[in-house]
Amino acid sequence: MNKFIFLIICFCSACFAGPTVVVVGGGPAGLAAAIEAQMAGADVTVVEKRDKYERARWIFLTEYTLQLFEKWGLSKEVGIKRFIPINAMEEALDKRREELGIKKIYATFTELTDFPYDILIGADGSHSQVRNMLGISTKTLGTATGILAAKQNNSEKAFTLTDYPSNDGYFLRQIDVPGKSIVFLQSSTKKISLDVLKQKTSIEDPFFVVVDIQLQQAQTFSNKEKSAIIIGDAAAVGSFYQGTGANNAFKTAEIAGNFLKNLSYEEFNEAMQKNTDELIQDNLFLFKDCAEKS
Ligand SMILES: Cc1cc2nc3c(=O)[nH]c(=O)nc-3n(C[C@H](O)[C@H](O)[C@H](O)COP(=O)(O)OP(=O)(O)OC[C@H]3O[C@@H](n4cnc5c(N)ncnc54)[C@H](O)[C@@H]3O)c2cc1C
Repeated sequence: MNKFIFLIICFCSACFAGPTVVVVGGGPAGLAAAIEAQMAGADVTVVEKRDKYERARWIFLTEYTLQLFEKWGLSKEVGIKRFIPINAMEEALDKRREELGIKKIYATFTELTDFPYDILIGADGSHSQVRNMLGISTKTLGTATGILAAKQNNSEKAFTLTDYPSNDGYFLRQIDVPGKSIVFLQSSTKKISLDVLKQKTSIEDPFFVVVDIQLQQAQTFSNKEKSAIIIGDAAAVGSFYQGTGANNAFKTAEIAGNFLKNLSYEEFNEAMQKNTDELIQDNLFLFKDCAEKS
């Protein structure tokens, strides 16, 4: 059924001059790459399995991301926020996708032959199916566990981010925004639990999640024979303690946009290698035994 809709879309845009680009994944990387691809003159379709953006975690945006938002024409309202719930950011990107007339199909991508394409962009997250279909393996450079918690505060202060306090094997970080504090505790060597979080912070009744964290990087970022590339968390994942994941995903979407202009797989791989090496280096210290260092 979805394939049928896609073929009709292909037929309707048959006279379109640019390459047909299919982006798998309509998260931050995929939506941004779709906008980049359209700006590069491609005929773009996003394939996304979620029909609603419901993830509520908060994302810290870097200055560079705000510049990219401006380039992509995101509304000023979203473009000036340094700290934003990820679903609000995804909705804003998706609205921009719609304004630009970029097609979106709600479906789970299961085979490389699902939809015809000239170029395929895998932006389907850390457990990327596209990456597996392309035969690209990943290396795991570290593992840890973390808790993310939020509590209300009455402060009107602007954004503040604590430094990297680490001791006794734990990394603790707090980000304050007006009315709210986000606390993140991570360890690669110690047990992480709500009790530990309570001992280390004044948080009594947090909204919290416990997650396994993997520092992970793909061995390569494209498969030329299959005319496909991977970006975002599909290419590399660090720790969200650093607040760099989504920001990095946006940079890789920009690299995908450059790739669509010159179609050099070598240059794409080189740029992605540099980008993901930086992500790994920035996060590596969080996966070392910090008890040894303190
Ligand atoms: C708890 C937590 C807190 C975080 N906090 C921050 C932070 O403060 N700052 C920051 O910068 N980053 C943070 N991150 C990281 C950030 O969320 C990710 O780096 C970012 O979402 C990566 O974007 P992506 O588009 O590559 O992947 P994803 O966000 O994972 O998006 C992938 C998309 O692909 C879709 N998909 C997957 N498989 C298929 C398929 N087969 N067919 C169709 N669609 C498919 C999914 O539904 C999803 O929409 C955090 C992550 C976590 C887990």
